[in-house]
Amino acid sequence: MNTWAVVLAAGRGLRSGRSLPKQFFTHRGMPLFLHSLLTFARIPALHGLVLVLPPDCDFDAVNALIRDAPSLGLPCLLRAGGESRRESSASGVAALPADCDAVLVHDAARPFVTPALITRVLEALEQGSRAVIPGIAVTDTLKEVDAAGTVRKSLDRACLRAVQTPQGFAAEDLRKAHERVRGAGVQVTDDAGLMEYCGIPVTVVPGDAGNVKITTPEDLRLLRPMPAYDGCGPDRLDVQTPVPRSGFGYDVHRYGGNRPLVLGGVLIPGDITVHAHSDGDVLLHALTDALLGCICGGDIGLLFPDSDPELENIASGILLTETLERCLAAGFRPEHADLTVIAQVPRIAPHRDAVTDNIAKLLRLDRSRVNLKATTEEKLGFTGEKKGIKAVALVNGFLTPASDVAGRLGLPRTFSNRSGQSPDRYFDTTGGGVSPATGASAP
Ligand code: MG
Repeated sequence: MNTWAVVLAAGRGLRSGRSLPKQFFTHRGMPLFLHSLLTFARIPALHGLVLVLPPDCDFDAVNALIRDAPSLGLPCLLRAGGESRRESSASGVAALPADCDAVLVHDAARPFVTPALITRVLEALEQGSRAVIPGIAVTDTLKEVDAAGTVRKSLDRACLRAVQTPQGFAAEDLRKAHERVRGAGVQVTDDAGLMEYCGIPVTVVPGDAGNVKITTPEDLRLLRPMPAYDGCGPDRLDVQTPVPRSGFGYDVHRYGGNRPLVLGGVLIPGDITVHAHSDGDVLLHALTDALLGCICGGDIGLLFPDSDPELENIASGILLTETLERCLAAGFRPEHADLTVIAQVPRIAPHRDAVTDNIAKLLRLDRSRVNLKATTEEKLGFTGEKKGIKAVALVNGFLTPASDVAGRLGLPRTFSNRSGQSPDRYFDTTGGGVSPATGASAP
């Protein structure tokens, strides 16, 4: 079967008592609709996904959120919904490829849907059912009442089921049902209602009590922290729970270029020079990579390519500050940095305090949280032959994933090496060894 899932996220969420539609509420660092998409994407039988959104939604922003999330690994089409749930479902169904022969329709406001439940619905479809819905037995006693609230009769709950999504259908049946009711004024609250209207038998499979629908403010209590780690990775843990992160960085620079040696933003007097596109601060480059490691932010070359003319001879403290801002925006706060310079020359000891002070200042940490070590490689290798210098850095800290969905999006670079860079900031980020007048560091 060529099976697709349509996830409906086009509702206005009026009953939730908030202005933001409920399917956009953030839970464990992601909007609710993404939880559903990711769960469906884990079902091997699915060929693709259709996400139906409010027509006035910012589709580019949703696309960016999906790109930013763990990979779906499936095509995901975005479609605008309609005024009613039925119209939104029809819009999603219309987006299905012609050769799709089975479809699951799911409400994005049910973020706790499990692969087991989806599989139950799929299996019933594969066994020949044309319409399948998950339902759970009703445990409360149910009464039918009149307009005044007086009980007319008790209902036999043994015959009742509370119905959930995903609901599974033969795609052709659902397409035809939508065509048949279009313009007919038929009011249904789920897609199975269309099948009933068309006289197609609907099969009920066991639902899942955890597959609740977020509808009212009371339901939002379900979005509180979940105690157990579910193996989905720290970025899906609850937004309030800081998780430890570590990042490692390593960098090398060759001696003999046209940049004077700078370490940790401090000019090292002497005749040693380095090859570099930036100022060649090997220690800050390793530290920048360590910070990026903490937020899974790639590496320094990705963020600040050495082909970018704007970055020529830029003070690496500016790159570090830019990176730190990204870390803070992503919810990561460094707590400690341990750094090692590996070089035969120069001797680091005379500069240790100044370099440590400046790095603590750059990281906005107390000096007691920054450690600088130095070693040689016993005259072995390129450092031993005084051909270059290397540095390694380890940063530890805590990540509290941004509660604001927008905070998870990529941020544009905020500095410029040519213009718009305040001299104050130049000084702040690089300590004493920088000339604000030229925008070039002393190296
Ligand atoms: Mg470098």
